[in-house]
Amino acid sequence: MRTPILAANWKMHKTRAEAAEFVAALLPLVKDVERVEVVLAPPFTVLCRVAKLLEGSAVALAAQNVHPEPGGAFTGEISAPMLADLGCRYAIVGHSERRSLFAESDAFVARKARALLESGIRPIVCVGESLEEREADQTFDVIGSQLDGSLAAAPDDRIRDIVLAYEPIWAIGTGRTATPELAQDVHAFIRDKLAQRFGADAAQQMRIQYGGSVKPENVDALLAQPDIDGALVGGASLDAQAFARIVRFESQES
Ligand code: PEP
Repeated sequence: MRTPILAANWKMHKTRAEAAEFVAALLPLVKDVERVEVVLAPPFTVLCRVAKLLEGSAVALAAQNVHPEPGGAFTGEISAPMLADLGCRYAIVGHSERRSLFAESDAFVARKARALLESGIRPIVCVGESLEEREADQTFDVIGSQLDGSLAAAPDDRIRDIVLAYEPIWAIGTGRTATPELAQDVHAFIRDKLAQRFGADAAQQMRIQYGGSVKPENVDALLAQPDIDGALVGGASLDAQAFARIVRFESQES
């Protein structure tokens, strides 16, 4: 039985005051939620503050990025040991915005994932195809190769600590969500790939989130699919009420 994981990716949003207001609104709305993992990924500037505000709650802290080296002359970067020191339990790597806007390769993503694991932080590894790739019938090739490359440096005995996020690029921030069936097809493909590579047991334990315009209106149908184990939420995670509704998706309340 996989514990669903619902993560908020705030991207480059929220000041300290806005972050504090969000956490104050969210915690009472999710405090009785059980058997679900809730994760907040604020920008670096408010990680420390949000870490303090989450103390004593079950909500986990995540970073949106990390540099693969543990320290050194990397101006503007943040290392995995620094994130661990702040209490981060997760970090997002391989987000399509970083892959496309900052030219991050699968090999770089793989190094980041390994660095996180070495610091005791669970990577959320994102994969996803563009609209052109989907229309050219290349979805499975693209996802397969992103998985091979991005997981290449992860030690087999730590693989279960990795969370995958399937985020079709054409659905991110566009309001256009993959249908539950379409998302399920790709999630099943990902689990199959994981089974071939790391064995059936590991693949059954690993969680695969869906991301791409998840909102209160579509989360229930998406999470009802057998291989969708959570959501990585951008836009709708900026609002505490909307994110709380996503966390309280229907099937876990029944
Ligand atoms: C994301 O950026 O990870 C994301 C899924 O964004 P949105 O929910 O806004 O589509």
